[in-house]
Amino acid sequence: MAGTLYLVPTPIGNLGDLSQRIIDILSEADFIAAEDTRVSLKLLNHLGLKKPLVSYYRHNTETSGPQILARLLSGESCALVTDAGTPAISDPGEELVAQCAEAGVTVCAIPGPCALVTALAVSGLPTGRFTFEGFLAMNRKNRAAHLESLRGERRTMIFYEAPHKLCATLDDLVHYFGPERRISLCRELSKLHEQVLRMTLGEAADYYRQQPPKGEFVLVVEGAPEPEPEEISWEDAVERVLRLRADGLAMKAAARQVSEETGLSKNELYARATKSGG
Ligand code: SAM
Repeated sequence: MAGTLYLVPTPIGNLGDLSQRIIDILSEADFIAAEDTRVSLKLLNHLGLKKPLVSYYRHNTETSGPQILARLLSGESCALVTDAGTPAISDPGEELVAQCAEAGVTVCAIPGPCALVTALAVSGLPTGRFTFEGFLAMNRKNRAAHLESLRGERRTMIFYEAPHKLCATLDDLVHYFGPERRISLCRELSKLHEQVLRMTLGEAADYYRQQPPKGEFVLVVEGAPEPEPEEISWEDAVERVLRLRADGLAMKAAARQVSEETGLSKNELYARATKSGG
C-alpha cells in the first residue's frame, strides 16, 4: 500500500508555534523532503530528531518529485517541509501534491503557521472574501498585467513581498489602486519585532521612502469600493423590475436585483411592481 505525503508547516518566526502534531509527524515519517536541508536540519536538531532528509526545492522538482513519488508508492511516508510556513503556498509542494493526487497517493495537510492567514486575521480589513496574490512578478509586463487585472477587485487582496522590493511595490499599488486605499503592512509576524501598520497606500509609500524596510512583509490591501448605486427614479426602477419579470425572473428575484443595482428598497419595489400589474 502507498504511503502518505504529509504537508508539514513550520514556524514563520516563533518556535513555540510547533504543535505536538507537527512534531509527531516529523518524528514518525520515514523521510523528510525539505526546501533547504540545512534550515530543516536546524529544526530537527532543535527537536532532537534524526531523520533521512532529501532535497525538494524550486529548481529540482522535476528530478526530485518523481523520486519522492516512487518512494511514496513503495509504501514510505514523507513529511514535506519548507524553510518557514505552509508548503505549497508560494513555496515548493504544489506540483508534488498534484502528482500524488494523480497517482492516488494520500496527501495530508497539517494545519499550522501560514503568513498569509496570520496577516489577514490581524489586518483589521474585511476577511469575509479575500484573494491571495502571492509575489508580484519582477517582469514589468507581467507585473502590470497582474495589477491591471486587480483594479476593480472588491475582495481584500494579500501580497507577499521581500523588503528590498517593498518601496517599488507600494508605488505600483498607489498607481493602480490610488493613494487613499487602506493597507495593513504586517511585518515580522510572530517574531520579536512584529509590527502591523494600518494606513493608506499613499502614507505607506511615504513612510517607507523615509526609512528602509527591514524584515519580512505581508501586504493586506483593501478591495475596491462598492460602485455608487445608480441614480434612478422609482418609475424607471419599477419598469426595470417588470422587464426582468417579463424576461422570466420571479417578481421577488427581479425586485431584489433592481434593489441591489439601485439601492432602493426591495420590498417597496416589489409592492409597486405588483401594483403596476406585474
Ligand atoms: N509558505 C509560506 C507561508 O505560507 O507562510 C510563505 C513562503 S514565501 C516564500 C515567504 C514570504 O512569506 C515572505 O517573503 C513574506 O512575504 C511572507 N512571510 C513569511 N514569514 C513571515 C513573517 N514572519 N512575517 C511576515 N511575512 C512573512
